[in-house]
Amino acid sequence: MRVIVVGAGIWGLACAYACVRRGDSVSVYDAGRIGDGASGGIVGALGPYVPDEWTQKKQYQFEALDTAAGFWKTVDARSGMASGYGRIGRLQPLITQKAVALAEARAISAQELWQGRFEWRVENRPDTMSEHAAPFGVAHDTISARIHPAKATTSLGAACQALGVSLFENHPVTTLSDNAISGPWGTASADAVIVAAGVAGFEMIAPYTPLHPGSGVKGQAAVLGADMAGHPQIYADGVYIIPHANGAVAVGSTSEKTWTADGIDDQLDTVIAKAHAICPVLENATVLQRWSGIRPKARRRDPMLGAVPTLKGVYTALGAFKIGFGLSHKIGETVASQIRDEPVDIPECFTLDWHMAK
Ligand SMILES: Cc1cc2nc3c(=O)[nH]c(=O)nc-3n(C[C@H](O)[C@H](O)[C@H](O)COP(=O)(O)OP(=O)(O)OC[C@H]3O[C@@H](n4cnc5c(N)ncnc54)[C@H](O)[C@@H]3O)c2cc1C
Repeated sequence: MRVIVVGAGIWGLACAYACVRRGDSVSVYDAGRIGDGASGGIVGALGPYVPDEWTQKKQYQFEALDTAAGFWKTVDARSGMASGYGRIGRLQPLITQKAVALAEARAISAQELWQGRFEWRVENRPDTMSEHAAPFGVAHDTISARIHPAKATTSLGAACQALGVSLFENHPVTTLSDNAISGPWGTASADAVIVAAGVAGFEMIAPYTPLHPGSGVKGQAAVLGADMAGHPQIYADGVYIIPHANGAVAVGSTSEKTWTADGIDDQLDTVIAKAHAICPVLENATVLQRWSGIRPKARRRDPMLGAVPTLKGVYTALGAFKIGFGLSHKIGETVASQIRDEPVDIPECFTLDWHMAK
């Protein structure tokens, strides 16, 4: 098959990778460069839903997180680059006795739901966390991982190219039509077009959908210079603290439905101050980088996958929102199946049709 992917973020590249591995001839078009969108970020938490009240959505995400280590190992081997993937686990503070009881019940349900492969356990808080942040200890899951978003996107882009994907950077797509795209650079056609242009993708497909498909949610995050190597990531008080390799710890993120300007403002200082309160070892850490991006949030929050109504041969890989990296390789496989009309086992809430239902 000839496949065009619009957008060289993590979802577009995951689709390109899955398609080229099936033997497709794949071209990726980006308005700018690889990772120019939300995927050029710095946080990279890959965390599960809580292991209870199981749903097809939780199962889909579990399978993605379970297979992520193998996927990124192969990608990094193909690209010769490092995605920064590491299964480091996650600590979440328990702040009431009731939360301890719930966490203990989840420790039992996790054994079955996570198939004995990963644990959810109740532990004492480590010395790195303040007593105030975790007065009743922590829930420690061993399935959570971290990745370096910008590096992983670069690595996947290089792996795609190593497999023969053609990448057209600085090729903005302005128009979609049946089996085709066009822009100031000309027109290209294929058997399938996959729109994976992040937040811009919603505007691109809006003329062809009955309801407006989605919007952006801004986020700001920082990298602190601190060595927490070997420490699990922490999710507390709405803040992620993610130990990366090489003496860097990412903290994030703001979640802003409305904003007046792109870039950094003092809301990020609030996030950093919260990280200090949770993890006092970070108090004297230098801020190495501040970053902001716009998350693509589909109309009803979940991923939005499927054929675009009224356009022939045009599909979406949109709505990565806050969990884009955790799901990316499985989304790529799903979309690679959808464009060949193969049956896919996805939750209904991931379908474009569901997002378009009133
Ligand atoms: C502060 C912050 C923290 C986050 N933390 C996490 C986290 O911890 N874990 C996690 O999993 N996710 C996280 N996310 C979300 C994650 O970054 C996104 O889910 C993911 O990057 C979205 O990928 P995408 O490929 O859909 O879109 P994008 O990465 O935005 O890619 C879209 C691409 O399309 C291109 N494009 C746009 N318009 C056009 C056009 N007209 N023609 C051609 N190309 C076009 C853009 O240049 C861009 O390269 C975070 C996001 C933010 C902002």
